[in-house]
Amino acid sequence: MQHGPVRTRSDAQQLDAADPLAGFRERFTGDGPDGTWDDGPGRRIYLDGNSLGRLPRATPAAVARVVEQEWGRGLVGSWSDWVGQAGRAGDALAAGVLGARPGEVLVSDSTSVNLFKLLEAGVDARPGRDVVVCSADEFPTDRYVVAGVARRRGMTVREVPVDVDQGLVLDDLAAVLDDRVAVVVLSLVAYRSGALADLVAVTALAREHGALVLWDLSHAAGSVEVDLSAADLAVGCTYKHLNGGPGAPAFLYVRRELQAELRQPIQGWFGASDQFAMGPDYEPVDGVERFAVGTPPVLATTAVEVGVAITTEAGMAAIAAKGRALTDLLVELADDRLPQLRLASPRDAAHRGAHVSLEHPQAWQLTQALVDHGVVPDFRTPDRVRFGPAPLYTRFVDVWDAVDRLAEILAADDHLRYPATRSRVT
Ligand SMILES: *Cc1c(COP(=O)(O)O)cnc(C)c1O
Repeated sequence: MQHGPVRTRSDAQQLDAADPLAGFRERFTGDGPDGTWDDGPGRRIYLDGNSLGRLPRATPAAVARVVEQEWGRGLVGSWSDWVGQAGRAGDALAAGVLGARPGEVLVSDSTSVNLFKLLEAGVDARPGRDVVVCSADEFPTDRYVVAGVARRRGMTVREVPVDVDQGLVLDDLAAVLDDRVAVVVLSLVAYRSGALADLVAVTALAREHGALVLWDLSHAAGSVEVDLSAADLAVGCTYKHLNGGPGAPAFLYVRRELQAELRQPIQGWFGASDQFAMGPDYEPVDGVERFAVGTPPVLATTAVEVGVAITTEAGMAAIAAKGRALTDLLVELADDRLPQLRLASPRDAAHRGAHVSLEHPQAWQLTQALVDHGVVPDFRTPDRVRFGPAPLYTRFVDVWDAVDRLAEILAADDHLRYPATRSRVT
């Protein structure tokens, strides 16, 4: 969805009137009484859907049904249904969101734990290689997991330099690849800038050197079109753009052809063949379920299923197109009205996910002032305000009003009233 110049608030409203996804906003809980949407001038504008997505209206009832019926009445008998849930939810994600085949995706554990499992499995599948490559600006948990695995195994971490704003350049990756590299860990959409890497080109380049790429799709799943048919390994969150709720279980993807060869390091009974034989030795089950560990979070996975169903219904092509249009509008308005801030994301929408960052020396103070003025972005080190206008429930007029409030704050130096020292959670 391309749009002409947006010069007035009513231009933004016209974009909303033409938005094919406009109706999906009503599928989410708003900030008004009983979860309705408060559309008044003082309303809260939530631009942090890439950190914690909003609550779908259908989620409380879906979770309540599992609690009251399946747990409350069915008790242990419900396990006959629950044992397949992680795989069913994975298949739904594969089909609707990730471009993977049935039996390639499993909903399980957290992204951090899945990173550990697949990194260990990937390194084991490349014996004799002693290097893991990770981007220098990778999300902290990814860097920490990589460092921990490398330390325990006596491997070396090789960082590929990336531009914090523009993301990875393929030649820079090529320069660090050789026959010592076992696995490359990389985010598809960079958490700070939103820079979108080229999944096909990066995976192909790594394969030329015999290395596996472990993609982190945390900021990509539910915001950009992903085609995992070109990938080997991936993990990602469901509580960001997939609206699965705080602490919702993550997903992992292992290409079908690799599954038999890969062994994960945590030999739990949910990954064992013939689990209820309770045999003396661990033997991994065939298929993606060998990457499961222990008893899955049934209630939380139910919320993931609702989020994935909404995303699937809206369609990733439409969601990604609206994400580009919303962030394009933000960039355009920032150019016009916020000359004090520098765009810290790729300018071309084809090269970013559904969030953008703006740099300002007082970014932390600006973030606090924005929250007080009802606009919720988040702050990212060292000096960036990050805006994630989630396509399923953010309107173009919300972007317009958010920029308006930010321009007012700057004009009045309102942000200077806020502490310059950062709090624990940003
Ligand atoms: C959000 C995010 C995570 C979160 O990992 P958890 O284990 O869910 O805390 C990991 N990696 C990236 C790139 C993220 O954006």
